[in-house]
Amino acid sequence: MALIKCLECGKEVSDKAKNCPNCGCPIYEEKEESKVIIFGLSQMGLLGGKLKIYVDGEYVGDLKKGQRLEFPIEKDCTITAKCGINPSKGAIDVKAGRTTKIKYEYNRISGCFIPCIVDEVTNSVNY
Ligand SMILES: [Zn+2]
Repeated sequence: MALIKCLECGKEVSDKAKNCPNCGCPIYEEKEESKVIIFGLSQMGLLGGKLKIYVDGEYVGDLKKGQRLEFPIEKDCTITAKCGINPSKGAIDVKAGRTTKIKYEYNRISGCFIPCIVDEVTNSVNY
């Protein structure tokens, strides 16, 4: 737990608090959002259509073709993925305090998905 300053009244409050106990100003809006968005691309249909996503070795959900998987993180962590028949190569490190967008590029040579951090992702990728 950390103490942060309320932007309204300047009092130190817990970063877990929803509102400042002094002035009632919402606290969560002042925090940088720590989250990860992973985009499922259309080529994922090639390999059974989904990737299992893991954060620090813990399963967080399936990434499906053409969809996105969004989840909050509490600290810096490492994201890995597995797909049915082929293991995905590569882990990717993400930092807390920001929104990280990731897409998995299908590598035709290795037959694996390689994660990369992107600013913008469209679900229509042309090769
Ligand atoms: Zn306040």
